[in-house]
Amino acid sequence: MNILYLSDIEHPDRWIPALSKQLPHDRFFTVDAFDPASIDIVLLARPPAGIVGRLSNVKLIQSLFMGVDGLLADPTFPRRKPLSRLIDPGMVAAMVESVVAHVLDYHRHHYAYRNDQAIRKWDRLPQYMTCERTVGLLGLGELGTAAAKSLLSFGFKVAGWKRRPGELAGIEVFSGPAGVGGMLALSNVVVCLLPLTAETRGVLNAAAFAKMPKGSAIINVARGGHVVVPDLLAALDSGQLAHAYLDVFDKEPLPADSPLWSHPGVTVTPHTAALTEPRTAMARVIENIERVRAGRPALSLVDFGAGY
Ligand code: NDP
Repeated sequence: MNILYLSDIEHPDRWIPALSKQLPHDRFFTVDAFDPASIDIVLLARPPAGIVGRLSNVKLIQSLFMGVDGLLADPTFPRRKPLSRLIDPGMVAAMVESVVAHVLDYHRHHYAYRNDQAIRKWDRLPQYMTCERTVGLLGLGELGTAAAKSLLSFGFKVAGWKRRPGELAGIEVFSGPAGVGGMLALSNVVVCLLPLTAETRGVLNAAAFAKMPKGSAIINVARGGHVVVPDLLAALDSGQLAHAYLDVFDKEPLPADSPLWSHPGVTVTPHTAALTEPRTAMARVIENIERVRAGRPALSLVDFGAGY
């Protein structure tokens, strides 16, 4: 099979040599030289715009990211070809670590002690037990469910919100547009792990912050478009929110003049909550290639109607 690798962010050397070794009979191409009609499978991580729509015979579009909002934002992206999200165990583990690190930073008041240290202030804040705190997860998919399980193991109460009704052991599950308010009202920390779609854009807004208990925190490790930044700054300034951990932004890199950089209530990380990890992702990519070769559907196909 002919496999095209398209990315302006993931270096091909991280993928092509290892893939060629395991798939010696397949041929690999990069953007420099390929015949669009001959490509069977395309592997994508932030591809140059307009190319995928020209691959007239492509049988699988394999994203090398878990989120596909960037691909779907391109109006020329083909909606009738199978698009698979990468479910990478290394990336899931990294996201769980990032979420737990931020939740514990808030729970143990480290965000406040960092600010106190800067002004040489010695001020002990009250200690809470994890069983007194609820962490609410917006999104209970691959990442949200894995994070929820880890948080439960620390003794936190865990609630979650998803599009379709469902049950998950130990987690209070809310669903649909009417369900989100109930989850927010319970949550001392809200973690956003939603895909960015027309329905989820701006979900973390003034009305949402007002529903959360005073002094709570948000962690956005999904996409920048989920947070309404002026509403967030107002909620931090009023004390409604104590802290915001932001890994993702509407414009990345975060512009130097953004007020988020210097706000004492904000922790900024440079979209690193979970990076694709070829060492663990390769097996899933190869499995999908073999499925296409055998005429079987690939795993983790995107529902274009739902947008994720
Ligand atoms: P999944 O598709 O597995 O899960 C998405 C979850 O969101 C599901 O529970 C789904 O509900 C829920 N959801 C979707 N739309 C709505 C809605 N309108 N209302 C309520 N719930 C909704 O996604 P992943 O867990 O794999 O990934 C989530 C996101 O994390 C990615 O889209 C990406 O943007 C982001 N990400 C960020 C990274 C980073 O480094 N910062 C790294 C990797 C991913 P249901 O269960 O009912 O379908």
